[in-house]
Formats: sequence, structure tokens, C-alpha cells
Amino acid sequence: MESNVIYEEDRPRQLTLLSVVVPCCDEEAVIPETHKRVVNVLSGLENVGFEIIYVDDGSRDGTLRLLRMLHRNDPRVRVVALSRNFGHQVAVTAGLTYSSGDAVAVIDADLQDPPEVILEMVERWRVGVDVAYGARLDREGESSFKKVTAKVFYRLINSLSDVAIPLDAGDFRLMDREVVDAFLAMPERDRFVRGMVAWVGYRQEPVYYRRLARFAGETKYPLTKMLRLASDGILSFSSAPLRLAVHFGFVSACLAIVGIIYAIALRLFTDRWVTGWTLLFIAMLFFGGVQMMFLGVMGEYVGRIYSEIKRRPLFLVKERLGFSSGEPELGERRADRPDQRAHA
Ligand code: UDP
Ligand code: MG
Repeated sequence: MESNVIYEEDRPRQLTLLSVVVPCCDEEAVIPETHKRVVNVLSGLENVGFEIIYVDDGSRDGTLRLLRMLHRNDPRVRVVALSRNFGHQVAVTAGLTYSSGDAVAVIDADLQDPPEVILEMVERWRVGVDVAYGARLDREGESSFKKVTAKVFYRLINSLSDVAIPLDAGDFRLMDREVVDAFLAMPERDRFVRGMVAWVGYRQEPVYYRRLARFAGETKYPLTKMLRLASDGILSFSSAPLRLAVHFGFVSACLAIVGIIYAIALRLFTDRWVTGWTLLFIAMLFFGGVQMMFLGVMGEYVGRIYSEIKRRPLFLVKERLGFSSGEPELGERRADRPDQRAHA
């Protein structure tokens, strides 16, 4: 029999404050347009307050100047300026740290992710989805090299990783407060945001969209940064490389035993043993190579352990605008509150 009772969890969630985090690195060419579009979209949400948190990730162009201006004209604009370039993933983390909304959206500054999609994400959040992540149907204006490498990367990380990381999803997403807090409670240094959010769990669903070409400016993800992100993703979310080392080690140990028996047999039962040096030479090279390879794998993990135990703050904020907690703002940083500027 159908029931008309509405249980508490069936009621749509109330959105009082929505935070939007925008990481920016040398984006002066796009910020004015991005800001206009984002404000336009958010103004369409009825009875929802919003804050837009721009994180300046050590830009060397006029980005920070532009952001200060946006803040002066609109108190809903908040600015977190990092003291240098810490990279996209850390910039996103910094923005999340300073967000206070019931739900928090993360969006790139270059309009590749259409801000309008945030509305659909909000609708999903209202009916109980904790993470609505943008899944790319299509990527316009990106080189076929980038498309192919991205595809390979997403497939590879998924087959290796211990948690299911959504395919073809970047960091464009909307997260519930609870998820954001759980994410921020993770102390690790190598931050692969989409993997960490997937790890958190809760209800996560894709929202499909077409990824457009950059509105202006150039990509801030050259090949080196892409490789770094890929290795962060794989090494932080999988112990497969280590397991591979164990398998290789086992196989090569077996081969070595066969080789040793063969060498001993030659030595004892034939008189052809002097010529065996060829075998020795090959074996030496082979095991030398294998050992070097896995020393590298070990080194990767040891390096990670090293950077984790250093416990350095993940980022440093040099300036904050539009936060009402009585924190020192632009130009009035006080020496007696050093603890306010370091974030573990
Ligand atoms: N970004 C950043 N720090 C960086 C690199 C990029 O904050 O070191 C920002 C950048 O401003 C943009 C977003 O991260 O808002 C995505 O970068 P981009 O569009 O260059 O990457 P792509 O879309 O080409 O992968
Ligand atoms: Mg982009």
C-alpha cells in the first residue's frame, strides 16, 4: 500500500549558504568574465546566500589585483592569496578550508566547466546527494594528446586503485559540508582531491556536462604537472606498484635458482664450465636492472613517507579578504598572531 507519510530524510535539504571555490593561477584574462557568469548563475538560486572564494595560487600577472577589486565591489567575494604557487590541488584545498557553506562547489577559473551546471548539482544535493561530480561527456578545444593521456590515466588509476575513482571527472563538483569536513580532516601532503573525495564515501553521483574550450589564456597544466598529478593519483591510491615489486622479485628469484642449479651442474658434470661467464654476465645485468627498477619504486614510497612526516603546513596564506572573524586583513597582518596563518 502506498504511504503518504513524508519521512524527515525525504524532505529536500535547505541550502542557506553556498560556497564556490575558484582556484586561479595567472588567470587575469578570464576572471572578469568568469565572475560575471558565476554571479549570474548563483543569483538565480532563490533564498540561497552565496560566497565566492577565489584562491590566488601565486599568480604572477594581475590576477590578485583583479580579485581585490572584485572583493571591494562585492562583499560576497572572498579572496585567499597563497604566498606562492602551491599547485591546483593545494589551491582547491585552501579554498575548501576557508569555505563555510552548507554545500561547496569547486570550479575552474577558465570557464571550461560551465557554471550553469552548478544549478543541477545543487538540485541533486537538495535531494540527498552528498557529492555531485561533473563527468565530462566531451572535451572541446583540447589537444588529442591531452584527451588520449587523460583517458589512459583515468582507466589506469581505476584498475590500480583501491577506491573507485569516477572516470572522466575532474575537480568540478559540489560537496556537502560533511564531505568537505571529512576531506579537510585528512592530513596527507600529496593531495589528489578527486581520489580523496571518492575515498570519503557518502552518496556520490555524476552530473554529465560538455567540457568546453578555455575561454581565454593558456592551460596551467603542462605535461610535467600532468605527470605529477598522475603519479600522485596512482601512488597515493594504490599499492599496486609495490605488489608488482614483490611479484617481480619472486619470479626473478625463481629464475635465479634455476640459473644457479644450471651453473653448478655445468661445473660438476662437464668440463665446459669456463664458458659460463656469459650466463653470469647476463644474469648480473638482468638482476642489476630489476633491482634498480624496484629501488626506484621503494624510493617513491620512502619519499612520500618522508614528506608526510615533515608535517609542514600544506599552504601559507599571505592575505585574506572578506572574512569577518576578526582576522588581520590586507596590510594589517600582526606579528602576535602567527598561528593564524599556518594551516596544517
Ligand atoms: N591552477 C592553479 N594552480 C596551478 C595550476 C592551475 O590554481 O598551479 C588553476 C587554474 O587557474 C584553473 C584550474 O586550476 O582555474 C585548472 O587549470 P587549467 O585550466 O590550466 O588546467 P586544464 O583545464 O588545462 O587541465
Ligand atoms: Mg582548464
